[in-house]
Amino acid sequence: MSSSLFPGRRVLAMPLGWKPPSAEAAFCCEAMTRALEFHCDQHADPFECADQLLIYNEVLDEFGIVVHDGGPSYVLITHCPWCGTRLPESQRDRWFDEVEAKEYTDETLAPAYLSAEWRRKDVS
Ligand SMILES: [Zn+2]
Ligand SMILES: [Zn+2]
Repeated sequence: MSSSLFPGRRVLAMPLGWKPPSAEAAFCCEAMTRALEFHCDQHADPFECADQLLIYNEVLDEFGIVVHDGGPSYVLITHCPWCGTRLPESQRDRWFDEVEAKEYTDETLAPAYLSAEWRRKDVS
């Protein structure tokens, strides 16, 4: 897919390495909950599975439409396609700001930044 499509909305799944939402994650409606469940016998990764349309990135608190081009990217959405609920504001910019300010590298990244934990409290 051309990068000129969906400028500013098409993003890479960060942090790298897909993790499904935790049991604490709650969604707006049943249709959304079902769309975000990922069960596939043939694929271990939702980005590899053509049946997976939507993704929830719990670390960044953002929802997206999966771009099936072989890489882990998606197009951010602001509302639920089924019930119209406004989805939370993505914490992507804040995540990058904090990771950069704390001078983390891929190797030294604190575990809190690999889950939703960093959003709940100030972690060092
Ligand atoms: Zn909904
Ligand atoms: Zn599949």
